[in-house]
Amino acid sequence: MRLVLLGAPGAGKGTQATRLVAKHSIVQLSTGDMLRAAVTAGTPLGAQAKEIMNRGELVPDQLVIDLIDQRIGASDAAHGFILDGFPRTVAQARTLDTLLTKRNMKLDAVVELVVDENELLKRVENRVRETLKAGGVVRADDNPESLKTRLDAYRKLTAPVSAYYAQKGDLKQVDGMAPIDDVTLAIDKAIGGRV
Ligand code: ADP
Repeated sequence: MRLVLLGAPGAGKGTQATRLVAKHSIVQLSTGDMLRAAVTAGTPLGAQAKEIMNRGELVPDQLVIDLIDQRIGASDAAHGFILDGFPRTVAQARTLDTLLTKRNMKLDAVVELVVDENELLKRVENRVRETLKAGGVVRADDNPESLKTRLDAYRKLTAPVSAYYAQKGDLKQVDGMAPIDDVTLAIDKAIGGRV
């Protein structure tokens, strides 16, 4: 099964992706996680992405396209994958179509978690509080200023991605304001109990 999970920062993509991975034996391909790993490892890619990410802006399309191109063809993704945080621009979505076609692959569904903007702010504040309480390290972009930039980028560049998939008839919207288990059930229903 091949899925795309869309939704604003804090919409719950990571939480739901983890559940889908366990249930369907597929891999989660999160461009945010891959980029953070590159930053931590100090690779040239990480060096290029670090400041852009910290500000809450999007990194250039080509950087994430190269990451995804390598990963969707890897053997651990042969069973299927969930793309989380990609595509984030219409240009990325178009390129994804090309990459999939090249490999004779097709998306089974595109699921969007829909959440009110006020709730997003609360969730990210909560994530910061919980992380601090657990003695963890808060993400460099989980601060009010970068979050505002992330939400602006989402509205301007990523919201049109939903429209792109809606036009193709692939988009399933799920209420991301519901309790976590209900969201999981709604996603199961939206993907039609596939696999
Ligand atoms: P969020 O919680 O904002 O959804 P992510 O972990 O998905 O965060 O991404 C963190 C940051 O990594 C983004 O703000 C952006 O700088 C960069 N990033 C991740 N995925 C992409 C992408 N597909 N295109 C461009 N930039 C990306």
